[in-house]
Amino acid sequence: MKQSHYFLKTSKTVSADDVSINAKLLEQGGFVQKVMAGVYSYLPLGNRVLKKIESIVREEMDAIGGQEVFMPTLQPKENWQKTGRWESLDVLFQVKSRHGNEYALGPTHEEIVTPMAQAIISSYKDLPIAVYQIQTKFRDEARAKSGLLRGREFRMKDLYSYHATPDDLENYYNNIAAPAYAKVFKRLGLDALYTEASGGSFAKFSHEFQVEIENGEDTIYICEKCKLAKNKEIFEDGAECTNCGKTTWREAKASEVGNIFKLQDKYSSAFNLQFTEADGSKKTVVMGCYGIGTSRLMGVIVEKFNDEKGIIWPAAVAPFAVHLIALKGAEEQAEKLYVNLLEQGVEVLYDDRDLSAGAKFADSDLIGIPLRMIVSPKTLEKNSVELKKRTEKDFKLVEISKVLEVVK
Ligand code: ATP
Ligand code: MG
Repeated sequence: MKQSHYFLKTSKTVSADDVSINAKLLEQGGFVQKVMAGVYSYLPLGNRVLKKIESIVREEMDAIGGQEVFMPTLQPKENWQKTGRWESLDVLFQVKSRHGNEYALGPTHEEIVTPMAQAIISSYKDLPIAVYQIQTKFRDEARAKSGLLRGREFRMKDLYSYHATPDDLENYYNNIAAPAYAKVFKRLGLDALYTEASGGSFAKFSHEFQVEIENGEDTIYICEKCKLAKNKEIFEDGAECTNCGKTTWREAKASEVGNIFKLQDKYSSAFNLQFTEADGSKKTVVMGCYGIGTSRLMGVIVEKFNDEKGIIWPAAVAPFAVHLIALKGAEEQAEKLYVNLLEQGVEVLYDDRDLSAGAKFADSDLIGIPLRMIVSPKTLEKNSVELKKRTEKDFKLVEISKVLEVVK
């Protein structure tokens, strides 16, 4: 992509009411644009990052047999009345149409996914099974002021599993869903702590995946020995670690990037979702739900990986692999290199703008692409380009004939 024609403008200013690091850097870097509190447009650069995060999430959900579906945002009021959440869920957006009908804007999808399974699940032979989607969610959050960390409109992956027995749910939860989550966060370059949180009325705990960041909304206590964590909401002074029995904890601020929950029969009972057992008896399906905040993840990654100059994207989610920068007098050679890189399938952003070296470098630091490649009359004298990793200070001179090899 040539920067001269890219839908991208970096800026030195940022919305006055947003002070978080992720909002500042993502807005200044031209990744997102704030439309109103908690609502953002993703510009091409930001959309590339979001897509990459969601691709990784999708791959790992597919790997555990999750089947991708796509459910509606506009949802019937009756479904929400059936579960009692039309009244009780404080963040639910309720929409009145001009014809007097009322709808919910989906903040989560139990009210859709549960009746949806009625047409599919009839026998024990149909279980277990799991579906997921990656979708835009709406929540009327009281405070939406930490950039992508808490939106009123945001992106989420939500998976739902259906089981014949609580034991089967337990096994899926511990041995399939939780390990898949650990893989996702590891691939994103994040150390996400497995955190015990309130389980509601059906389970002792639910589990959150929490990433330590200074700007985090949650307070967690991390076991000094085994790193299992507890959310402040369930933490008691002197508590023993469920995993290793130790009682030494470190307090930390963190952001919840994922949450897994045993629903048991809470929603299946409300919608009368049943199956026939081998002996012909009728039983209620049990369910689990498993969320990952994909847009929040983008914010968390920025909160974690940045310096005073800008963002430092982990390679797995960087918008481009290479930032090629042509300095004055080297445009022709840079163009050739650009075409070469494209032909080799390298994702490259090419700064072909008529700007000073200083301005180009400042933008490049802010945008945070992992590898910078500079072509100038000086490097060309040596038939070379300069390569610099965003994480390192020093340049390396590499011969043009060897550049592709080095990049790969
Ligand atoms: P929180 O405790 O942060 O309010 P939650 O427990 O209500 O979130 P879930 O309903 O479990 O969240 O949603 C799954 C995931 O979606 C969360 O783990 C989080 O990463 C993300 N998420 C939830 N609410 C928001 C929001 N307002 N903006 C961005 N991401 C969110
Ligand atoms: Mg939570």
